[in-house]
Amino acid sequence: MTDYQLIRSKRRSLELRVLEDGRVQVRAPNRAPLRMVQAFVDSRRQWIRDQQQRQARRPRQRWQDGAAFCFRGEPLQLDVCQGVSRVQRQGGYLQVRLAEPDQEAPVQSAVENWLRRQARPLFEDSIDRQFGWFAAQGYNRPTLRVKKMRTRWGSLSARGYINLNLALLHYPPAVLDYVVMHELCHLQHMDHGPGFHALMDARMPDWRQRKALLEQPLYQP
Ligand SMILES: [Zn+2]
Repeated sequence: MTDYQLIRSKRRSLELRVLEDGRVQVRAPNRAPLRMVQAFVDSRRQWIRDQQQRQARRPRQRWQDGAAFCFRGEPLQLDVCQGVSRVQRQGGYLQVRLAEPDQEAPVQSAVENWLRRQARPLFEDSIDRQFGWFAAQGYNRPTLRVKKMRTRWGSLSARGYINLNLALLHYPPAVLDYVVMHELCHLQHMDHGPGFHALMDARMPDWRQRKALLEQPLYQP
């Protein structure tokens, strides 16, 4: 039988999640009977096993001194030690100073805050560089929102927002520009039909090569 954590709430449906460490979570409506939850988990046993295997194969990012992550396609090594809270880049190193340098969670959140501060100007710059043609067609420049998203790199909302995934910062700048261009082309074509692809080909002839980089695993030390 599969071990799982049950989280009840005012939701309407059952949802199954396999966490990064392989643990299984089930979200269920407050009044869903336990045998129904159990039957649901049993019916998804193969899926759970597949997900657990996938998670186990995925190299886990470490947040400690000497670990590295990919920033704009280049490795950046963490230099973590105790000190007054500060995160600063020095060439190929990211110096992280904080009160508890031996715990990974505070290091991770310090680095994520640093990444958020880097994201906005870089993402705005990518939009600015590529928006000219769309401005000439009479479109309004969408407003940037930087988000941590699980399943999408970006989206364009009908209300005038361009949402970009914070994780794009790990990829080379050419990949960020591709995602921005993709979303800007949705100003003209909401779907991914032939018109959309023709516009992508015209605005960014090498977009397929850039997209392929998004599907490659990130640099891991
Ligand atoms: Zn799209």
